[in-house]
Amino acid sequence: MPMKNQDYIDLEDRYGAHNYKPLDVVLTRGEGVWVYDVEGKRYLDCLSAYSALNQGHVHPKILAAMQDQLQKITLTSRAFRNDQMPLLFKELSDLSGYEMSLLMNSGAEAVETAIKLARKWAYRVKGIERNHAEIIVADGNFHGRTVTIVSFSSDELYREDFGPYTPGFISVRYGDAAAVEVAITPNTAAVMLEPIQGEGGVIIPPVGYLKKVAEICKKNNVLFIADEIQTGLGRTGKLFACDHENVKPDMMIIGKALAGGFYPVSAVLSSAKILGLFRPGEHGSTFGGNPLGAAVARTALKVLVEEGMIENAAAMGEYFSEQLAEMPQKNIREIRSRGLLIGVEMKTEAGPARGYCEGLQKKGILAKETHDTTIRFAPPLIIDKAVIDWAMPMIRDVLAK
Ligand SMILES: *Cc1c(COP(=O)(O)O)cnc(C)c1O
Repeated sequence: MPMKNQDYIDLEDRYGAHNYKPLDVVLTRGEGVWVYDVEGKRYLDCLSAYSALNQGHVHPKILAAMQDQLQKITLTSRAFRNDQMPLLFKELSDLSGYEMSLLMNSGAEAVETAIKLARKWAYRVKGIERNHAEIIVADGNFHGRTVTIVSFSSDELYREDFGPYTPGFISVRYGDAAAVEVAITPNTAAVMLEPIQGEGGVIIPPVGYLKKVAEICKKNNVLFIADEIQTGLGRTGKLFACDHENVKPDMMIIGKALAGGFYPVSAVLSSAKILGLFRPGEHGSTFGGNPLGAAVARTALKVLVEEGMIENAAAMGEYFSEQLAEMPQKNIREIRSRGLLIGVEMKTEAGPARGYCEGLQKKGILAKETHDTTIRFAPPLIIDKAVIDWAMPMIRDVLAK
């Protein structure tokens, strides 16, 4: 007897830690915007692995680049140099306009890197007394799961049992630039924000917020760090979400879609003046900058640009949101969107978002709730009008129930 969905679920629940509460669908294959479960049922992926799959599942060109590199060399460590990483550095710089980058693996590691770098800058450049640097963050943030990062989370579930916490962080109201200004002290090294809070429920700050925060940072000699791990690389219809306000942060953190869902690759982008502060031995990672990840990331960036995925995200995001706005709104409190990062917040009396996601799953659409009331729609950036037209009647049905 071939194994069924339930057999895998039973194994996972018995032998794996229960640190997630996934939808009960067991995927075995993906192609473009589609995924297939072990019983052969097809679904539209409206999560894209939290935006790590902007290029779609198993993009053929990224696959070919990975297969090609796999046969050559996969890992050198940074004890030696390799012939892929420098090309990725150069291509990242050409694409983003930042002078330099530092490569890590997971998003959380890149956030940790940015925090270390901001502290170093505070002591070496700004002249803050050692061990006194402060970083301002926003309520409702999500920057990852390490002990330091959960130390400044405002979500009790993420932090409650994991203290003692790393000091040096101050959290202020998201979307309120004045609150940032008030929190700045002579010891402030940096302000670190998501331009849109994805995990926080697709929270979009008021127009001009990022620009104001950037100005406040500049005026006070404080670094502005943007965590664009989820919003970056085309998701919102521009390369970076900060581009919507023509803001160029001092440090830009990216990950997720940087390697098209094939491999974990993350990066901190910045100026030579800031990134140049790291000296040999002060920071590193065995796998960071490895030639396999670099080759995959190079192609993932290339197809993102060459295949017009960023422009498509803008156009299809607008279409998707318009269609949602035309639906019966009786259960819907608010629809928030930028490009293909779309949050549909349900009214509290309409029941938890989870139930709607389970309803969508039955119809062949995979979306995931974020917090209790918001359904996030974030399909791969290659989605087209025909697929949206296919999905919309079912979304309408489920959300109107
Ligand atoms: C996903 C995410 C992270 C953490 O990335 P990991 O690869 O899971 O460590 C950090 N910041 C934001 C905004 C994210 O969406």
